[in-house]
Amino acid sequence: MSSHSSKTLALFGGTFDPIHFGHLRMALELKQVLAFDEMRLLPSHQPAHRAAPGVTAEKRRDMLALALEDCPELVLDARELLRAGPTYTVDTLEELRSELGTELPISFCMGMDSLLGLPSWHRWQRLLELAHLVVVARPGWEMPASGQVADLLAAHRGELADIQQQPAGKILVQERRLLPISATDIRNQIHSGRSPQFLLPERVLDYIQSQGLYQQER
Ligand code: ATP
Repeated sequence: MSSHSSKTLALFGGTFDPIHFGHLRMALELKQVLAFDEMRLLPSHQPAHRAAPGVTAEKRRDMLALALEDCPELVLDARELLRAGPTYTVDTLEELRSELGTELPISFCMGMDSLLGLPSWHRWQRLLELAHLVVVARPGWEMPASGQVADLLAAHRGELADIQQQPAGKILVQERRLLPISATDIRNQIHSGRSPQFLLPERVLDYIQSQGLYQQER
């Protein structure tokens, strides 16, 4: 794998129900600021109780593909949607490692909120053996004072050079402003007959309208 030593891969996971400019901007900024060679958007399965009615995994994938049509910098990786049953990040990372080898630096990007919930993830202690974590925190964020996540941060906190050069094992906290857009708000707006125009790509909005998505009560 020495031929891959100058490459880095980043993953930006989410349910993307629907994809919006908040996700797209953040994925692009992280790719550019942290100089990743490849940034993949990785849609996950939705727990049945969270899924918006009528919005299948295929439709979420279609919306992502439409959103990325004009952006060669971001790539769709729909592998989790093809897997039957629950999706665990750790399984996806194991699969990527068996495809790409042990040397390639892989970074999994998540919000600080997700990091705080990490100890409830399946086999969470294995995650840092497989990848780095890039954690996006709003300006003014505070380090958790104690607990498993505080210990994890203390043990694994790293610098940009670490996540670019080592294959896995570091946590990089990135302070960034987020566009004030959420998929929940977009769904609520459509449901109540308002337009979410300018919050997501026009092509995605056209698709939502032509398929009649997010109109029904959950
Ligand atoms: P929901 O409102 O349904 O929870 P969401 O808009 O938060 O959805 P997700 O698909 O849950 O979107 O999020 C995917 C990833 O994008 C997560 O890591 C989340 O922290 C991040 N994210 C969500 N909204 C924004 C935003 N406005 N700017 C930057 N990142 C965002």
